[in-house]
Amino acid sequence: MAEYLASIFGTEKDKVNCSFYFKIGACRHGDRCSRLHNKPTFSQTILIQNIYRNPQNSAQTADASRCAVSDVEMQEHYDEFFEEVFTEMEEKYGEVEEMNVCDNLGDHLVGNVYVKFRREEDAEKAVMDLNNRWFNGQPIHAELSPVTDFREACCRQYEMGECTRGGFCNFMHLKPISRELRRELYGRRRKRHRSRSRSRERRSRSRDRRRDRERRRSRDRERSGRF
Ligand SMILES: [Zn+2]
Ligand SMILES: [Zn+2]
Repeated sequence: MAEYLASIFGTEKDKVNCSFYFKIGACRHGDRCSRLHNKPTFSQTILIQNIYRNPQNSAQTADASRCAVSDVEMQEHYDEFFEEVFTEMEEKYGEVEEMNVCDNLGDHLVGNVYVKFRREEDAEKAVMDLNNRWFNGQPIHAELSPVTDFREACCRQYEMGECTRGGFCNFMHLKPISRELRRELYGRRRKRHRSRSRSRERRSRSRDRRRDRERRRSRDRERSGRF
């Protein structure tokens, strides 16, 4: 019996534990869910709730007739956001194994950022500290998350561009960063243990790129008051 229970734990067959919370770290029923959300007491992964804002979504609500933000601008804005958060996590708390951002629209998933650290103690430190901080004028809500395998949590149809549930899908729609940024943040990772000087180098390079971008575009994007 114990073995059976262990084998169905967190799956759809499990009538006690919520499979969505277990796999995705967020369930649309929230605290009212009829199944249990087993909050982990230790984990490599943290969830920072609702902090990424896709400028195309807010632009659409302001003017439904046309989208004021092009795909290129949206991607630049996203890469910048991703790099800023990623760098902050590594500098303040410790090495990040993987970071993922949801582009879903449902309340429990919109703008969620999942950061998987290499060490559990860094994740714990991050949660404690982040809950005292603000981002874009909002208090941050961070928690330890049960998610360890993002392959299980993400929507495969979305990755193939075929999710019919759109933004309200209950699996993660993980927004991809540009190939250039991916290479920069994760590229050398396999071979080495990054030295501080390399990370400084990377930072100054990315600062240069950022400055170039700023120059190109004078548009203002609610930058004030970040972290
Ligand atoms: Zn649930
Ligand atoms: Zn989907």
